[in-house]
Amino acid sequence: MIKFLDLKSTNNRYEADLKNTFQYFLNKGHYVLGEEVSKFETAFAEYCGTKHCVGVSNGLDGLVLILKACMLSGKLSEGDEVIVAANTYIASILAILNAGLKPVLVEPEAATFNINPLEISKSISNKTKAIMVVHLYGQLCNMDAISKISKAHNLLIIEDAAQAHGAYDTVLKKKCGNLGYAAAFSFYPTKNLGAFGDAGAVTTNDKELASKIAKLRNYGKESKYVNAILGVNNRLDEIQAAFLNVKLPYLDEENTIRRAIAKRYLSEIKNDKITLPYWNNTENHVFHVIVLKVEHRKKFETYLKENGIETLIFYPIPPHKQAALKAFEHLSFPITEAIHNKVISIPLNTAIQDKDVTYIINVLNAY
Ligand SMILES: *Cc1c(COP(=O)(O)O)cnc(C)c1O
Repeated sequence: MIKFLDLKSTNNRYEADLKNTFQYFLNKGHYVLGEEVSKFETAFAEYCGTKHCVGVSNGLDGLVLILKACMLSGKLSEGDEVIVAANTYIASILAILNAGLKPVLVEPEAATFNINPLEISKSISNKTKAIMVVHLYGQLCNMDAISKISKAHNLLIIEDAAQAHGAYDTVLKKKCGNLGYAAAFSFYPTKNLGAFGDAGAVTTNDKELASKIAKLRNYGKESKYVNAILGVNNRLDEIQAAFLNVKLPYLDEENTIRRAIAKRYLSEIKNDKITLPYWNNTENHVFHVIVLKVEHRKKFETYLKENGIETLIFYPIPPHKQAALKAFEHLSFPITEAIHNKVISIPLNTAIQDKDVTYIINVLNAY
């Protein structure tokens, strides 16, 4: 069976370094917000091209912290509207709700799966204060168009960068994490930069915002036993930061491997029954996953399974059809719903062998 993703194999190359790192960590005896977190924050800000990075507990918390910090500084107020794609992973919408703001869902572009700038423009009301862009599946949103809308209407851009570490916008000449006011990253183990448990980070060029989030994540602490604001415990674990410091230097190399596999799939899969995803062939995509569309998904899934290929669906149910989001149930998003009914992903990761990619292509072409 060709697994969809085997985390043990993708992390194999780091094993010796990770063991040394753990031994060093153990000997050091400093387990929370130590030098590994600071080192990662400096390195990741530099990687993204931003002035600041604050390590946090996970991607969802990163998004909530950005929104709450914006509320503390008066940039956002309770009940303000935040525009977000209807076909995103539910975390983006949960973050907006958890911060006490109102998600306004809009349709994506059918070709890229990313939020449609025209739909953003149509959904702006006098309560709209922000756009949360989600670079879904690793491909950047149309940030040139969205930046223009944001400037014209004075809206904050918040990036949900959980799937797009290292993607580079060749129009704006900036990297993911540096394409809006602030960005939240997830280092969940399956992400392009994956930790060994939960971890996340926020990047921004605003010093005030970074400093607010650094306080918020640690009980609102100003200095030892002095609490300036109502905070939470959303710190990035020291051990996860240490492991991320081992893996970060290889992120670009791993993204290059992902793009090379994607290039093979996109040029060698030739079957009218399979719709391949759009990509403009630049570094704006880091292929967190590759997403195909088929008409009879169950049949296709079974066929691949019978041929020893594991697949996954991102995502089978759109957020507005989830029991948790009953308030959005009455809304209709035909493009989003069609996407959720047709998408299916085949293995694309840094551990997969060339011969397995060839095999997958042959099986797909014979379908
Ligand atoms: C993974 C993911 C998140 C949440 O990250 P966690 O670290 O699991 O909290 C948010 N948004 C998107 C698009 C994701 O893929």
